[in-house]
Amino acid sequence: MSKKKTALVISAHAADFVWRCGGAIALHAKLGYEVTVVCLSFGERGESAKLWKQPGMTLDKVKAARRAEAEKAAEALGVHKLLCFDLGDYPLKLTDEDKNRLVEVIREVQPSFMLSHSQYDPYNTDHMYTTQVVLEARMIAQAWGHNPGQKVLGAPQLYLFEPHQTEQMGWKPDVFLDITEVWEKKRAAIECMEGQEHLWEFYTRVAQNRANHFQRNSGGQSGGRAALYAEGFQSVFPRTLDEL
Ligand SMILES: [Zn+2]
Repeated sequence: MSKKKTALVISAHAADFVWRCGGAIALHAKLGYEVTVVCLSFGERGESAKLWKQPGMTLDKVKAARRAEAEKAAEALGVHKLLCFDLGDYPLKLTDEDKNRLVEVIREVQPSFMLSHSQYDPYNTDHMYTTQVVLEARMIAQAWGHNPGQKVLGAPQLYLFEPHQTEQMGWKPDVFLDITEVWEKKRAAIECMEGQEHLWEFYTRVAQNRANHFQRNSGGQSGGRAALYAEGFQSVFPRTLDEL
């Protein structure tokens, strides 16, 4: 049995992993986890408006720019491996072969936990489609009859990271993670996303607000631990405990 600590992030577009769980990535990298990030697409059509407004822009140029940004951000966060599947966006669609590729990655990484999008997102169906695909791939990776002989997957938690316009997504956090000690890394990764500068301050404020919730839920005014920056997550599966 491998003693490596690993985690897997599955991001619909190239920048999602930065805004939504960059702190969790940097924190776990610091804790010795090998964090693998899969970007199913570059967000080249739907999340690159600033680039498309430049004259003479082409799809290949946008993809190259988004790949470069994602690689730079991954480095800033301490990502172990960044895998860009380049499957296209708006809409994102996976063939059975693409899904099998994701299953292979899950089995190879054997993550202690996984991270992906909210289950509902009427503004961005690529996001909710990704989560549906992740659940399907997780299920297949657990099946003893799928590619017998390979190591099957255990039962890693799937954490859903915070979407944009939270209330519209039916997303309700049940975990707050203090990312204060790695905030500078997340901010550096955020600033790699030059095409989406309008979101830099927004996601800084999100982290500050979630830090307030971290403190409130870790004891509130009777000794809650202070945090300056945090990320919220919604877990899909129950936890198994010996004590409450
Ligand atoms: Zn996205």
